[in-house]
Amino acid sequence: MSSGIITVVGSYVVDLMSRTPHMPKPGETVLGGPFRMGPGGKGGNQAVAAARQGSRVCMVTKVGNDPFGQAAVKHFQAEHISTDYVFVDDAEATGAALIAVDDNGENMIVVALGACGKLSAEDVAQAEQMIKRSTVVLVQLETSMEAVRKTLELAGTYGVPVILNPAPYQPIPEELLKGVTYITPNETEAFLLTGIEITDEESAYRAASVLYRRGVKHVVITLGKKGCYYYEGGPSGILYPGFHVDAVDTTGAGDAFNGGLAHALAEGRSIRQALRYANAVAALSVTKIGTAPAMPSREEVERFLQ
Ligand code: ADP
Repeated sequence: MSSGIITVVGSYVVDLMSRTPHMPKPGETVLGGPFRMGPGGKGGNQAVAAARQGSRVCMVTKVGNDPFGQAAVKHFQAEHISTDYVFVDDAEATGAALIAVDDNGENMIVVALGACGKLSAEDVAQAEQMIKRSTVVLVQLETSMEAVRKTLELAGTYGVPVILNPAPYQPIPEELLKGVTYITPNETEAFLLTGIEITDEESAYRAASVLYRRGVKHVVITLGKKGCYYYEGGPSGILYPGFHVDAVDTTGAGDAFNGGLAHALAEGRSIRQALRYANAVAALSVTKIGTAPAMPSREEVERFLQ
């Protein structure tokens, strides 16, 4: 199968992680460690997940004019991701996620979007020809709503299918949903978008029907280790069960799923095969620590699915 082009319009932030014996109280300084630093952001992570499957991926994002921004470009290049539309903002710093993890595995995270929060409609418009040539466009809600709006508008103009991963949750203007081909909320996001708590297949069906009636053509609700629920109209949807693995770190599972789904659809797989593939990419990602570094290769996924 030939792999198409995937354009990802989304965030890049550098993850700055430290262990801490306990969470600091307001005003307290705690001596922690070890410290780890790595590439992050939902857009960047999903781009890596898709690129490692063999798709040609173009990243549209914005970084600061600083060492973290330069490291971002090197990181994408090392993953064979096009950086032609990685814009540099002279005023804002590269985004950063400040992550503290205590001895119980609880975490506290502050995401400072910085430059990627400033991705504008004009920036996205510069990538118009790339979007036009794309087989699939993938976008999240971790930049600006105007960037999301422009992405949907351009993809709509050229009839390119769009996957919207509505994460982190933000209210989505109703008219934007009509331009979404695939929406991929997790259970929490599905609840926030519809007011329906996802507890079983029946409630997943009700929440998916709400999004479908608002104009989304294909609804995919990810259900953690249970897999995902797919709905495209009619009296019921289909549950695609998750794969059994020894999970060591589930952060980035949703990113792996979205990157895997974009790749499989860009490769021309049926939705049925694509959802199974996405479940496999995500399952393998939770067997390793980290987000982008934990994304499996195409060979690992194919071996796993044999
Ligand atoms: P998010 O990471 O956005 O919260 P989910 O928790 O729903 O999203 O996980 C996304 C996908 O990752 C699931 O649909 C499933 O395919 C896979 N996944 C998540 N957790 C596990 C797990 N413990 N075992 C196997 N697969 C998992």
